[in-house]
Amino acid sequence: MLQHDVIIVGGGLAGCRAALEIKKQNQDIDVALVAKTHPIRSHSVAAQGGIAATLKNVDPDDDWKAHAFDTVKGSDYLADQDAVAYLTKEAPEVIIELEHLGVLFSRLQDGKIAQRAFGGHSHKRTCYAADKTGHAILHELVNNLRRCGVQIYDEWYVMDLILEEKASENGQREAKGVVMFNIDDGNVQVARAKAVMFATGGYGRVFNTTSNDYASTGDGLGMCAIAQLPLEDMEFVQFHPTGLYPVGVLISEAVRGEGAYLRNSEGERFMTRYAPNQMELAPRDITSRAIVKEIRAGRGIHSDGSAGGPYIHLDLTHMGKEKIMSRVPFCWEEAHRLVGIDAVHEPMPVRPTAHYCMGGIPVNTDGRVRQDGNTLVEGFFAAGECACVSVHGANRLGSNSLLECVVYGRKTGRAIASYVQNRELPTINEIPYLETAQARIDCLLNQRGNMRINDLRQKFQDCMSEHCGVFRRQEVMQEGLDKIQELKSLYNQIFLDDKSIYWNTELIEALELKNIMVVGEMILTSAIRRQESRGAHSREDFPQRDDQKFLQHTLAYHHPEGVKIDYMPVVINMFEPKERKY
Ligand SMILES: Cc1cc2nc3c(=O)[nH]c(=O)nc-3n(C[C@H](O)[C@H](O)[C@H](O)COP(=O)(O)OP(=O)(O)OC[C@H]3O[C@@H](n4cnc5c(N)ncnc54)[C@H](O)[C@@H]3O)c2cc1C
Repeated sequence: MLQHDVIIVGGGLAGCRAALEIKKQNQDIDVALVAKTHPIRSHSVAAQGGIAATLKNVDPDDDWKAHAFDTVKGSDYLADQDAVAYLTKEAPEVIIELEHLGVLFSRLQDGKIAQRAFGGHSHKRTCYAADKTGHAILHELVNNLRRCGVQIYDEWYVMDLILEEKASENGQREAKGVVMFNIDDGNVQVARAKAVMFATGGYGRVFNTTSNDYASTGDGLGMCAIAQLPLEDMEFVQFHPTGLYPVGVLISEAVRGEGAYLRNSEGERFMTRYAPNQMELAPRDITSRAIVKEIRAGRGIHSDGSAGGPYIHLDLTHMGKEKIMSRVPFCWEEAHRLVGIDAVHEPMPVRPTAHYCMGGIPVNTDGRVRQDGNTLVEGFFAAGECACVSVHGANRLGSNSLLECVVYGRKTGRAIASYVQNRELPTINEIPYLETAQARIDCLLNQRGNMRINDLRQKFQDCMSEHCGVFRRQEVMQEGLDKIQELKSLYNQIFLDDKSIYWNTELIEALELKNIMVVGEMILTSAIRRQESRGAHSREDFPQRDDQKFLQHTLAYHHPEGVKIDYMPVVINMFEPKERKY
């Protein structure tokens, strides 16, 4: 059996920042970081537009309270305000720390870190490295990990969380380690630890069109749900307004932050109708709905330029070549490479794409995972996109997610460093865990079904996109839930062509598909039960926000017989809920 003081699953911004912090607090703590990709290939590397902090380099009257207010208003008042206050207060310090670690931020003329406008933010506070911010930050974090002696298990797939009931306590459960599969040679190992942390990222691949990478399959969420831990606020899925049509790849909000326009088939800047003050820089939920409404009203565009098509235009042509190439070169390159558009001279075709997971594994502000509304799990932590602390509530503002990864990655790292001081390595009988994992693998390799994994995954993703997209309705979602039950029953009909245990990517996809399916069911059920419209959850049959009944966090529990829903109060200690206008 492998053993470490701490095992962190996930090598993105959240996992790496936590690992560094633990080592900084106490160099002697033995920290392992496990990732199914190489850490540098985590989705964080693809983050483009930037990271928010009130450095005041461009806007001297900005302050953390304004950042906190924007975040809470953006969240449609569902964010926990104590968590938001911490996020926004700590932001300037974590940026300076990143810069001291070696991150190359873009600069102003006077040499200070540059800051740009972003949707839903009332001041220019988003720090960036052109439109490759995630790349700049993650590379430095991973370099630093190696320097401070974190053991990296890259290309190991974590299959299960080991969670057992504590002998002496009243139903309290305890994380003891993980079961992990070496993608390279098919070796299965149990690893035990005094503390386990999940930083496994998002679940964009639950939907058929997403800005996320292929590895964003919601594994951490799936494993928690299967271990009967709750998932919080899963109905809140962020659809980013500007996915490049038809591929869904992201065109960063930074492009609008730098001045690009959204236009319909009539050439009109239609945001005047939906957010007359903030226009293209309204929050993402509002902008995505506006685009879908324009398309539904026949003002979308076809590739021959005629009306009634499936996308609208993102127009940069007035910005000029120099600005485009210095501020958003990567977005120009993406459009040029993927759809042959030269954005200096012609508009880009865009429409909403599944982008971000506001909900996740419920945690307190130390990153400790909740077992229910009142109890914490022993030895288990989470941070980053897979966690719900909840700073984004019902809708995340752009550039707040990288910030969350760094602020709460660091805080969770500190909490873990102090937690493991008073904890022994747990005892585990590894045999049943190894047998179960091996049996799962053998079963997938040997079963003689007739279902291709791609077909089943595609059907599932199509179903989620069709039945739980930007706009939602009871009967459509119910029909979707019935369909995914059928699709779930086909999982044991999967047939794998590759029977090898060495670098079998098909086998990994099969393991991931299981998690995609569990997460999809949690999203749909939570969405059906929330009979109101709030942030990204927009119900055509319940168009109003209903604070009386639903100013609460959803806690969904996965049971073999169906998902059970409970609710948990929201922390409101700074800003009273108001109507949200932009
Ligand atoms: C295209 C794009 C652009 C974005 N731009 C911005 C931006 O400009 N500003 C902003 O604030 N946010 C942005 N976001 C959001 C932000 O990048 C992410 O929310 C954030 O980077 C998530 O980081 P993370 O550390 O939580 O997870 P990730 O970076 O997704 O890392 C997850 C890690 O978990 C590992 N993992 C997962 N499952 C397993 C398993 N079963 N076994 C082992 N390892 C596993 C993966 O290998 C990976 O290392 C963007 C997102 C996308 C998709």
